[in-house]
Amino acid sequence: MSTPTSKPVESAYGSAFSLRDFLSSFFLIELLKGMRLTGKYAFRSKITLEYPEEKTPLSPRFRGLHALRRYENGEERCIACKLCEAVCPAMAITIESDLRADGSRRTTRYDIDLSKCIFCGFCEESCPVDSIVETSILEYHGDKRGDLYFTKEMLLAVGDRFESEIAANKQADAKYR
Ligand code: SF4
Ligand code: SF4
Repeated sequence: MSTPTSKPVESAYGSAFSLRDFLSSFFLIELLKGMRLTGKYAFRSKITLEYPEEKTPLSPRFRGLHALRRYENGEERCIACKLCEAVCPAMAITIESDLRADGSRRTTRYDIDLSKCIFCGFCEESCPVDSIVETSILEYHGDKRGDLYFTKEMLLAVGDRFESEIAANKQADAKYR
């Protein structure tokens, strides 16, 4: 039984054993080139950071963990218009709403499944009252299925905790809008 024939090294790889390549290998040219490049950057200021102790600056438009915001008097901003739910391409937002005793409409349920979210920012862009926002928070994770399912209470808690940072980012970005 005949065995499959492999192509000769020369025909498969061209001039794999040319004199030039031989001399380059013999005199360690590639190694010297690498050392020259290393030496060129060895004494320059470093462009790498020791994450997580050191961090790169983030844009005010960075799209991280979501939050629901309140007004200064503690009233939640969201008016349950459902624009964010309608615009979300990942269908990650679920809203239910009801009328309150004072006649205003508010959400009774506002959930975001962050395992579906693609962080496009459409929800934030669509919100007429700057309620749903994406914060600069990027260091969060879930250990098991469901950990990244954020309820209204969780989103409001994120908003309460990081309101000053959210407001500062909104202000920094306002002049470009
Ligand atoms: S960032 Fe985009 S994908 Fe994520 S919840 Fe908002 S609209 Fe949906
Ligand atoms: S977060 Fe904004 S866009 Fe979404 S339902 Fe509330 S008010 Fe409407």
